[in-house]
Order: sequence, then C-alpha cells, then structure tokens
Amino acid sequence: MKRNKKAIASLLGVLAIEGVIIFLLSCTWTRTIMSGESATAMTPSAALAQRDRNVSKPGIAPAKATAIPSYDKKEIKKIWKESKNTLVLVNVEKKLKTSYHSSLIPICQGRLQASEYLYESLVQMLADAREEGYQFFIASAYRSRTKQQRLIDDGVRNRMRHGATYDEAIKKTYEKIMPAGHSEHETGLALDILCSGNMNMNLSQKEEPGNQWLCKNCHKYGFILRYPESKEHVTNIAYEPWHFRYVGESAAKYMRENDMTLEEFWDNME
Ligand SMILES: [Zn+2]
Repeated sequence: MKRNKKAIASLLGVLAIEGVIIFLLSCTWTRTIMSGESATAMTPSAALAQRDRNVSKPGIAPAKATAIPSYDKKEIKKIWKESKNTLVLVNVEKKLKTSYHSSLIPICQGRLQASEYLYESLVQMLADAREEGYQFFIASAYRSRTKQQRLIDDGVRNRMRHGATYDEAIKKTYEKIMPAGHSEHETGLALDILCSGNMNMNLSQKEEPGNQWLCKNCHKYGFILRYPESKEHVTNIAYEPWHFRYVGESAAKYMRENDMTLEEFWDNME
C-alpha cells in the first residue's frame, strides 16, 4: 500500500462534508429505532439469555455438519503475539474488560472516535476505494458502554410507549442492540460503513458494488467483515454486511485465507 497524501487529504475533506450528512442520517436512524426516554435496564444475565434465545430462532443458519478444518496453530499464536491489541474478542458471551484501553482518536472531522490502531489503514482503504470510484459514510465507530446502555434503555422505553410490554420491549431491543459491554464498538476497532447513496443499515448494502469492493479488499488493510453470512452459527450474530472490524493486517489475511471468523481464530489459539 503506497501512501498517497493528496488522496488522503482530499478524502478527509470529503469526510468532513459527508460527516454532516451522515450525522443527520444516523440521527434519523437512531430516532427511528431507539428514540424515547430512559428505561430500567435489563440485568446482564437476562440480556444474554434473551440474546441467546434471539440468535437461536429460525432465520439464523444452524450449524453445518462439515469437516473440521485444520489450522496452523503455530502461525495463529505468532499472529496473536504480534497483534494482541487489535485481536481482542468481544461477543455475546465475552464481555469487554473495563480495563481495556481503547486509545481513541477523532475521525471524520471529530464527528466520531475510533481506535488509533486502525486510523492509517482506514484512511488508506477509503482513499484506494475512492480511486476505484467508491465512497462511503461511516455511520458508527467507537461507542462507550454508557452510550450502549442508553441506546438499550431508549429502545425499551420507546417500544413501551408504543404499547409493548416490558418483556416484549426488551426482546425486540436485544434483537437490534448488543448488551452493554458486549458490543465490539466499545473497543473502537469496529466500524459501520455504509455505501454512498444508500444510507440503509440493512442487507441492501450487500448489493452495493462499494460494499462488494470492501468485502473483497478489506483484509489487505487489516479489516474483516465481522459477521459474514456463512458464519452466523459461529458468531451468533445475523449477517451484517456493513460492520467491519480491524484486527491487523497479518490476522486479517490469515482469517481471509482460511475462511475464519474472529471466534474461530480465538478457538485455535489455545
Ligand atoms: Zn456495527
């Protein structure tokens, strides 16, 4: 990857303008599904139990009876040692430790924050994509635990205002939002990237040539598509074509070559 300062400078300029648009749009999206006042938070164990029920419902592909692939554990351990900071695992079962330090820096002209580990790779990836004719909006990056809980509380309260019972509201909310402490947005290493011209954070993203370019090339810059369609039974998260996660270049390349998720990478470290 060659640095192209001119391209980076112009890209950052574009992000500044686009930042305003995406802010407005993301606010609209947020209001659509999460507006309302604060509600009593569900206990974490209840949230996880609820989430488990959600992911095991019809629509999530069941585990396939395929042969267990053999991975190069020595190589995986080597990559792990080199990239511990960016390989942190956060999911439904694994809560991010409060001691985790995110090393945040502003992106998109200060509209969002993300981990400093991904910054240069992100800028380069977006610059290269732009040269190929693709532009993106970053809808979400770092999210604090407090903010995550607020989104949950707001979602619950909003649904109750529209007639749902507390249990119904909790169930629906956790179909959309991870429990506080269990969202990898809290690491600053996850980004929700939408294609220019399509601000819908839904499966329509996968039809976009820009999204297809990202999925095909992101590993060259250290990113993975975190919740792929074919691995829902491993991640326990429905396919999200917009959610990319920085893990570092060597890890991303290894995972791509071996068709691995971060969960599978971790499983093979021990
Ligand atoms: Zn996301």
